[in-house]
Amino acid sequence: MAEALMTVTPGNRIAGEDREARSGKTFESRNPARWTDIVGVFPLSDASDIDTAVRAAKAALPGWRSTPWPARGAIILRAAEILEARKEKLARLMTREMGKVLTEARGDVQEAIDMGKFIAAEGRRAFGETVPSELRNKWAMTMRQPLGVVGCITPWNFPIAIPSWKIFPAVMAGNTVVFKPSTDTPLCGLSFVEALEEAGLPKGVINVVFGSGETVGNAIVSHPDVAAIYFTGSGDTGRGIAAECGRMLKRVSLELGGKNGIAVMDDANIDLAVDGALWGAFGTSGQRCTASSRLIVHRAVLESFTQKLLDRARSLRLGYGLDADVDVGPVINARQLARIHSYTTVGIAEGANLALGGEIASDGDLDDGNFYTPTVFTGVKPEMQIAQEEIFGPTTVIMPVDSFDEALQFANSTQYGLSLSIYTNDLRHAFRAMHELEAGIVYVNAPTIGAEIQLPFGGTKNTGNGHREAGGHVLDEFSEWKSIYIDYSGKLQRAQIDTNA
Ligand code: NAD
Repeated sequence: MAEALMTVTPGNRIAGEDREARSGKTFESRNPARWTDIVGVFPLSDASDIDTAVRAAKAALPGWRSTPWPARGAIILRAAEILEARKEKLARLMTREMGKVLTEARGDVQEAIDMGKFIAAEGRRAFGETVPSELRNKWAMTMRQPLGVVGCITPWNFPIAIPSWKIFPAVMAGNTVVFKPSTDTPLCGLSFVEALEEAGLPKGVINVVFGSGETVGNAIVSHPDVAAIYFTGSGDTGRGIAAECGRMLKRVSLELGGKNGIAVMDDANIDLAVDGALWGAFGTSGQRCTASSRLIVHRAVLESFTQKLLDRARSLRLGYGLDADVDVGPVINARQLARIHSYTTVGIAEGANLALGGEIASDGDLDDGNFYTPTVFTGVKPEMQIAQEEIFGPTTVIMPVDSFDEALQFANSTQYGLSLSIYTNDLRHAFRAMHELEAGIVYVNAPTIGAEIQLPFGGTKNTGNGHREAGGHVLDEFSEWKSIYIDYSGKLQRAQIDTNA
């Protein structure tokens, strides 16, 4: 059945109400596979709208932070169930607004469902500690406290999953939120929030403001009443945000870029490695922070690996992700398309061999979208720009190595440290790789993509600033500890001075 292509016109969502931008200006969200299809028209907000949203979040804070943890968890669980009931509809919306193929869009929504269920259980598990005091008749313990009003700023590539990683734990911990989704995927962001609203989240606990990063994002970061910033996006933007947060002594969690490598050893199952490389490099058109954009291949298997990869990549079908036989969808917008293509020019200029692709695709239907052919460079050296910089598109590079040690050295030779992988059947190689690969996430015999929400997610080096999302310690990012001492001795007892052993 053909999709009914409606253009929606929602407002900002502040204290549960739709509000236009104070400026009256708007921007469009378009379908990257069919650029003439306008998904929605959204308010182009400014700092005054952020101020209104922060005031709403501040007003909702006392009621929300005093709501019992299990009651907050129950609302989050209901939101996860609403997302589950709506999974197919949301996935189709995501393919239309963001471009990823439908199976992957379903996975994106599923990640949010998983996150909601996982976090909801924290409502009955947000343990503190009881610690022995050094003094008699004195009790010592810790409890978690919310941070206050927090800001969540997200990119477009996981337009429901990434907001869920931030917003579910933020509200679980009793914070209230001002949320700015990417201007490329505002409707996905709003649809996620609507599940929380329908689940019974009180008005003002979450507020959505649409608009540009420079104006709206900046206004959230520099607002004095916003206590913490949770940001996923590019390194340059992250550095600017961190500098401002440093100046304001504000907590900031940064999830930034990656240049993730798969090392394929001479003892690996080559067909399995080709499966992994294909999925890791071209899934989501390479627009994942964990995309397998470097393939580090032992010379002994280089020829067979390369041949098999090129054969498989050549047969991938580009197109609109709602069409059943499409393998690779569009890239997000024309700016990104031009950027990806500019890296092909760079690769050729630095002497790499363009073995496949390297073209803007515009045959037939593709003409109305932003499509780039799956691209493979061979004979790439680690110091080349195409081996060092995040391209964020369907481009991967093959770098030959002569040994396991050289493979580790090449894999670690970037400024980033998000996700690294090794294909090997040698236990010694697998264990050394687990210890020596410099990344927040390491895979053995699987590609660099495929994180699960019950494990911490995040990277080392320039991928971030040491924070981790998801996983068992997730609440540490969204709450702070309060230490409490109760002296029931009825007299002054001085720590470190009085001893009553
Ligand atoms: P981006 O940095 O351009 O934008 C991210 C968000 O920040 C958007 O909402 C944008 O509007 C906002 N923003 C832009 N300038 C801002 C400013 N000055 N102040 C405040 N907010 C601002 O990134 P993008 O192009 O949307 O996303 C792609 C990037 O995200 C890639 O580098 C990718 O690796 C990274 N990413 C990282 C992870 C991770 O978990 N490590 C996950 C997904 C994407």
